[in-house]
Amino acid sequence: MNYDVVIQDGFGFYCTEKLKESIASMVEDTGGWPRGTSTGNRVLLKVNMLAAKHPARGITTHPAVVAAVSSLLRDRGCEVFIGDSPGGAVKGVERYWRNCGFNTAAEITGARLVSFEGSGSRRITVHDREYDIALPILEGYDCKINMCKFKTHMYTRMTNAVKNSFGIVPGLGKAMLHMRSPRPRDLAVNIVDLYEIADFSLHISDGILCMDGRGPSTDGRRRHEGFLALSRNGVCLDMVLSQMAGLPWDQLDSNVEAFSRGLAKPFSEITVQGSHEFVDFDIPDRSYLNYIPRWLGSVARLLMRTAPVSNDSCTGCGVCKRACPVDAIEIRSGRAKMKKGTCIMCLCCHELCPENAVELKLPFGRS
Ligand code: SF4
Ligand code: SF4
Repeated sequence: MNYDVVIQDGFGFYCTEKLKESIASMVEDTGGWPRGTSTGNRVLLKVNMLAAKHPARGITTHPAVVAAVSSLLRDRGCEVFIGDSPGGAVKGVERYWRNCGFNTAAEITGARLVSFEGSGSRRITVHDREYDIALPILEGYDCKINMCKFKTHMYTRMTNAVKNSFGIVPGLGKAMLHMRSPRPRDLAVNIVDLYEIADFSLHISDGILCMDGRGPSTDGRRRHEGFLALSRNGVCLDMVLSQMAGLPWDQLDSNVEAFSRGLAKPFSEITVQGSHEFVDFDIPDRSYLNYIPRWLGSVARLLMRTAPVSNDSCTGCGVCKRACPVDAIEIRSGRAKMKKGTCIMCLCCHELCPENAVELKLPFGRS
């Protein structure tokens, strides 16, 4: 029987050889390798490269999982490419490749790294909305595989397969989307548009080391959950995992939006092999921004949106100021001050601060 979603639990740590064996059998249980993964085919692995942090932090897709998939594909005679567009990569993605371990994953398996920023983009219209999409997503590959990280997200509540499509927008375009859609419910519309454009053939979720609480980056709490999950359908995968983690599938905006477009079968009809038990998994509350009416307009959107703010740990070192692409940071009285009106929410300061001193604050003092 071919299952819609396959979950394998009990991974104590990341071992590429063990992962290879498990993923090979999981792929078989979902109907085998998708089209475009045979000898001579070019396969793109779209990872989650959110922050240039060590893989042990549980923020990014672990390189051992990427290496396992890459190695399986190389064994099938494919050429393998690894890419993503993290928000802070406008000043170079090489640091992400190095710090997240993707350099090593590529080196040991003969894969190549692709810079979405350096590959150009093309404007795509879907459902009357326009997006600039990284070219590697649109052309040049026979198959695209979504290699996401399972985590909570303090804004969208959870991020996994569908949300990982956000990284197909290169450079600061992602920040612009956040500004255009400050309500998570609206952002979910954009995320599902991007999921449709990405058109991944297979979704592999890394939930071995993951994150709960104030994810998806340094503010979250690292968790060892020890599972991998795999599906041909990213929406079904998200529905099953959110429900298992304690967030009913229809409480996740991207699930609801995708389901309303017919991108997944009814929850009760999704066939699942395996499971994982989450214990005390801390899922962020539904953002109150969802309840603010859209007609409040652009001024309200500016007031409503999240903004980076330095806290008492700030040493005034200036790393964030040098990284900010729009000169929105001043160092005053030994502390960084972010100008909300200029900030485009690229999150470089949040990601690069050596003191973890940049918090993302919701309006009205909430965080
Ligand atoms: S990088 Fe961090 S510690 Fe340095 S000035 Fe910016 S907020 Fe402060
Ligand atoms: S203040 Fe921070 S989040 Fe805002 S644009 Fe500058 S670096 Fe990006």
